[in-house]
Parts: sequence; structure tokens; C-alpha cells
Amino acid sequence: MSLSDQVLAAVRAALPACEGGVSLHEPEFRGQEWAYLKDCLDTGWVSSVGAYVDRIERDLEAITGAAHAVATSNGTAALDICLRLAGVKPGDEVLVPTLTFVATANAVAYQGATPHFVDSEAATLGVDPVRLDTYLHQTARLNGDVCLNTRTGAPIRALMVMHVFGHPCDLDGLAEVAARWKLVLVEDAAEGLGSRWNGRHVGNAGLVSALSFNGNKIVTTGGGGAILTNDAELGRRAKHLTTTARVPHKWSFIHDELGWNYRMPNLNAALGCAQLERLPDMMARKAVLARRYAEAFRDVEGVRLLTPGAGAEVNHWLNALILDRPDMATRDALLEALNAAGFMARPLWTLMHRLPMHADCPRDDLPVAEALEASVINIPSSARLAEA
Ligand SMILES: *Cc1c(COP(=O)(O)O)cnc(C)c1O
Repeated sequence: MSLSDQVLAAVRAALPACEGGVSLHEPEFRGQEWAYLKDCLDTGWVSSVGAYVDRIERDLEAITGAAHAVATSNGTAALDICLRLAGVKPGDEVLVPTLTFVATANAVAYQGATPHFVDSEAATLGVDPVRLDTYLHQTARLNGDVCLNTRTGAPIRALMVMHVFGHPCDLDGLAEVAARWKLVLVEDAAEGLGSRWNGRHVGNAGLVSALSFNGNKIVTTGGGGAILTNDAELGRRAKHLTTTARVPHKWSFIHDELGWNYRMPNLNAALGCAQLERLPDMMARKAVLARRYAEAFRDVEGVRLLTPGAGAEVNHWLNALILDRPDMATRDALLEALNAAGFMARPLWTLMHRLPMHADCPRDDLPVAEALEASVINIPSSARLAEA
């Protein structure tokens, strides 16, 4: 049997009752979604002020253990403000994995800063701390508390890391490198709700972090996101900047600095509160699905499933297959076969350094990310597939 046939057979074995029309990840509304949305309509609290917006922030603090959560209009907006709070200024550079969704790199550009792309490791798909440290020794020097790019002369202000498909990157190693090189650590935890690294929920290692509740994420608010931080002053500033920097007053419109209208509306928060109540159940069923895939792929040669390493607890947002030998033609043949049979499968994002608006940005050699681009495929991962 060809590899494509074997992969298709394994997916069919893991999803016995499904034939055709299986999407990659669909939202699920089985809890209080209708009740909470109706409550918004009945009471008239549909916009950016309301009880559910406050409640989702407290719920997120309870789930993540972060001291402060601020709900935003989407995950990209959360990243935008995270970088502002991290002190990123026009002309700065920010280290970003080339293997990420475009919003991570775009957020850097929104600040007038330049993304500086670094490589990832195959074990976690996240930034490789060892390689990063070696690269910084070759590329940067410390000038007091500022890390300078010796080639461009620009300050390298921050390191943004991302938890790919809910798999935590090596936060201990990366926090150490960030501290050594005086970089502010920012986590793009958009895919990581529910995931933990050494027992601690992701989003707590960085100075500030972003979550996303887009429609394809493990929990959705339709569109939405959140900023997490354990710093009280940054939490206060996150709320202030995302709500037009308005100074509380009975009637006056006073805005004491440039602010944004990035607040999550109450309608979206209501949906999210209902979704968050079901996060443990979602994760439990997704873990069952991941075990089914592991069983089905055990004897398939030439491909492995991405599995959590020591210290990682994953939310199993998206399951990923990785070819032993990176090869675009093989990857595309698998994508063709799975999609043609009705099992939605997707490649990795196009690497950031290949996108036109980021192509001229500084970067390390990126051999691991480029190999992963030719070897990673996501397969259907909705929680309901565990019930088949
Ligand atoms: C989804 C996602 C975002 C952006 O979130 P939106 O809510 O869609 O703006 C950012 N980064 C990563 C890695 C994501 O997966």
C-alpha cells in the first residue's frame, strides 16, 4: 500500500462512523450558549459593556491562573496590545518564529517594529531555545540592558513564542534565553487554552500573553481574544488601552492617551462563558480522539503523530501528522488523498519569511521550520469525532 493509502486507512480506522464531509475543527454549542445569548438580547446588554465581559475575564483568570485577563475583540488585537505593553517601539526588532500564523508577525509590524525570524524545534514545533541562544551569540550583543542586533544596530526588544496546535513550547528554556539576552518574553498563546507546561497553564511565563477565541479555536466567542498578565499595573493598562483610554467620569469624555476600541462585546463574551464551562469536556473528548489516532497510526511507517513531550499537557486542539522524511510531493499527495476522501486536512501555514510583506526581514537560517513545512499535516480534530 502507498503511504497515502495507509494514512487514509488509519484515519478511517480512527473515525469509524465518519465517511466524507469531516471538517478540520468545528465549533460546538451544547451548553448554555442559547440561554446566555438570549439573556443579552432580553436585557439589552449586547455591546462592549456588560456582565458577561467581566465574567469571562474572571473565568479566564480561574482557568489559566493568570492574575489578570482582559477580553478583546480578537486575538490579533490582543497581540497588538501585548507588544505595546512589552515596550516595543518603532524601529525595534522582535524575535518571532517563522513557523506561526501570520498574526504573530503582523502584530510586530503594527508597532512599526520588524519581525526577526528564528527557527523551531521538531519536538514541540515551537522556538528552539538552544539554537536561539547560539544564534544570538553570533548576531547580538548586550549594551547594558539592551540587546542590540550587531548587523542592523537595532534593539532586539522582545521574544514572541507560540504554542503550535496547543503544544507548549519549551517555556523554561525560552524564559532563560530571554532573561540572558534582556528580551521581554511575550507568549502568543492563541492556540494554547487548556495546555500546561510543567503544571502551569501557558500564558504565565511571559510578561504578557494573548489568547484567541476565533471560530476554529478550542473555545470560540465568534471572534474574540484576551490579554493575560500577572502584573497588576500591566493588567490595568491593558484594560485602559483596549477601551479607548477613557478616564472614568460620570459624563465627560476624557481620554488621557492614544487608546484602541478593542473591547470584546458582551454578546461574544456570553457565548464564551458558555463555551468555557464545557472546556474540560471538550479536552477530555479530544484526548480520546488523540488516543484513537495514536492507536491507528502505531504501525504506519514513514509518519508519526505529534505527541506531547515531558512536562507538556496539551489541549489536543489540532492533531498533526509529521512525515519522517520531509518531502513536498509526498505531503501534497497525502493532502490530496485525505481531502478527496472527505477528511479535511491542511498543511502548515506558509512560513512567515516567505510572505511578501515579511520577506525582507532579518532571519536566522531556518532549516527545521522549512523541513516541517514539507512534513506536517493537520487531520480532523473536532471533539465530537471521539463519539463516533
Ligand atoms: C488564531 C491565532 C491568532 C489570531 O487570533 P484571531 O482571534 O483570529 O485574531 C494569533 N496567533 C495564532 C498563533 C493563532 O492561531
